[in-house]
Amino acid sequence: MSKRDYYDVLGVSKGASADEIKKAYRQKAKELHPDRNKDNPEAEGKFKEANEAYEVLKDADKKAAYDRFGHAAFEGGMGGGGPRPGGMGGNGDFASAFSDVFDDLFGDFMGGRQGGRQRAARGADLRYNLRVTLEEAYNGLQKTINVPTSVQCGSCKGSGSEGGAEPTTCPTCSGMGKVRATQGFFTVERTCPTCSGLGQMIKNPCKTCGGNGRVHKDRALSVNIPAGVETGTRIRLAGEGEAGMRGGPPGDLYIFIEVEKHRIFEREGVELHCRVPVSMIAAALGGDIEVPTIDGGRSRVKIPAGSQSGRQMRLRGKGMPALRGGNHGDMFIELAVETPVNLTSRQKELLREFEDLSEDNNPEASSFFSSVKNFWDSMKG
Ligand SMILES: [Zn+2]
Ligand SMILES: [Zn+2]
Repeated sequence: MSKRDYYDVLGVSKGASADEIKKAYRQKAKELHPDRNKDNPEAEGKFKEANEAYEVLKDADKKAAYDRFGHAAFEGGMGGGGPRPGGMGGNGDFASAFSDVFDDLFGDFMGGRQGGRQRAARGADLRYNLRVTLEEAYNGLQKTINVPTSVQCGSCKGSGSEGGAEPTTCPTCSGMGKVRATQGFFTVERTCPTCSGLGQMIKNPCKTCGGNGRVHKDRALSVNIPAGVETGTRIRLAGEGEAGMRGGPPGDLYIFIEVEKHRIFEREGVELHCRVPVSMIAAALGGDIEVPTIDGGRSRVKIPAGSQSGRQMRLRGKGMPALRGGNHGDMFIELAVETPVNLTSRQKELLREFEDLSEDNNPEASSFFSSVKNFWDSMKG
């Protein structure tokens, strides 16, 4: 099926003005509207056809391209910027064509109504993931981060209008930002599709930002990370998110903290845990050991004589600071008694002697070992 000429579709001459084209299109759209033509595939096809023709002829650039090249202008990617209208034809999506016409018609019908006009769109919130070490979480830190974001366009001062010229009132909604549509018994109000609820249109979009009023930029921000942050802590920087559309208020920036795993310490809230190796001799005889602390210093800890592996000891106030102030948590150390290795023959001799003495001193232990020995002997027999 060859495509009909767009001017024929709308029933206007080639020299028709923009107003005449609009008028002719609205007439067609009302006639062919699916609500009035239930179960009429022919009307549906014409409805889409009219919509497609209008998509091209209402746009000065597309119209010029069509006048020069005909339908070929929109086949094979010639048509410059914007969505190509070709797709709306025979195999196009009916729902989208339908909604386009709907929007246009209702804008016209409801133009004069009062309605809540939306404020200029607020910018998006941004999330920034920041990894810090446990030491940094302990001390708190000042960090400069680079946030890729949108900022207000300097050329148009965020208005989106070239040279900062005042935007004009949106013709679809007459500046209300909302349009109303009657569907059966209901009146539905929704955001104006032409101006996205802003109520204003820009005649000459700013060349720097394309009319958004904002441009992409990496912004260096100095951020204060308080002591005591944990994985999952969120820090909100109000107004440091993306700039709003056309001068709208900016969003917020959220910094999400992730504290890296530490080589020595394990953290549980404000408590710190670590394992400290102790020599067998120190564990048996008792003594002082030095343990590293998260503030970079060292603490002396007294080991009681006869300490077993796994014994826990508390160092008060040597844990993490609480994020919302108050006392530091405690640090807990767990002793790990080390068995000596690579013994010299003299050391072995001394240990054997020690063992003999232990058996003499500790008849219970020796009777335990002998009963175990008896048990194994009986198993062999
Ligand atoms: Zn509007
Ligand atoms: Zn701009």
